[in-house]
Amino acid sequence: MLHNKKGLMGAVLAIGLMCVACTSKGHWGYEGEGAPENWVRLGFAEAGQSQSPINIDIKTLAQDNTVKKPVFQYKATAFEIENNGHTIELVPAEGADNKIFLDGKEYILQQLHFHAKSEHTVNGRYSPMEVHFVHKAADGDTAVVGFLINAGTKSTFFEEAFSKLPASVTKEELEKTINFTPFFARSPTFYRYTGSLTTPPCTEGIKWSVAATPVTLSADQIAAFTAIYHNNFRPIQDLNGRNIVNAR
Ligand SMILES: [Zn+2]
Repeated sequence: MLHNKKGLMGAVLAIGLMCVACTSKGHWGYEGEGAPENWVRLGFAEAGQSQSPINIDIKTLAQDNTVKKPVFQYKATAFEIENNGHTIELVPAEGADNKIFLDGKEYILQQLHFHAKSEHTVNGRYSPMEVHFVHKAADGDTAVVGFLINAGTKSTFFEEAFSKLPASVTKEELEKTINFTPFFARSPTFYRYTGSLTTPPCTEGIKWSVAATPVTLSADQIAAFTAIYHNNFRPIQDLNGRNIVNAR
């Protein structure tokens, strides 16, 4: 993809030696030529009318009692931590059994990862970070659960991971297992809407559940992440008349 762009070879060679998340030829990113405003033009993403992230305006939430929050069935799980050049993600060990049920369908956890700042905003306000739990159904459908992250109490769930965040593109296994069940229980309601992946190819038809109750990381934990990625969030996209449901 995108091997037709001209005059970038010198820049690619120079930048290729210096950076991890290259935003030069053939790479999307968050700054420079590969920045989000250029993703569609460069062919990384399709233009769409149901994109993510969005601003969540609390005053305009739709009421629909048939739309329920996800049901979480997570277990203590071994994770691998990986810097993939766009974010840092935790990937469950092969055969791990973490799933959600949404609208009667089962979705299996694929990975979770972080953005700084947050991608979603609530009443126009950003949080310092956001975590996304990405799930897939057997038919290929995707459901993402997001939590905004504010500065506050240190997170024990992410204690080991954030003590060994990989600054370069590598992966390693975490020693301790993590069970996210109590993490999810902290939010009694979730804002549900249909959107897209927030990274290329920005595929639509994604079922989003954004926790109404944010979680916290300590200032030190946030600083450890932003020392590696301080700008890996996509700007807010137009709602285009979509409903956001306050789901219980
Ligand atoms: Zn994400």
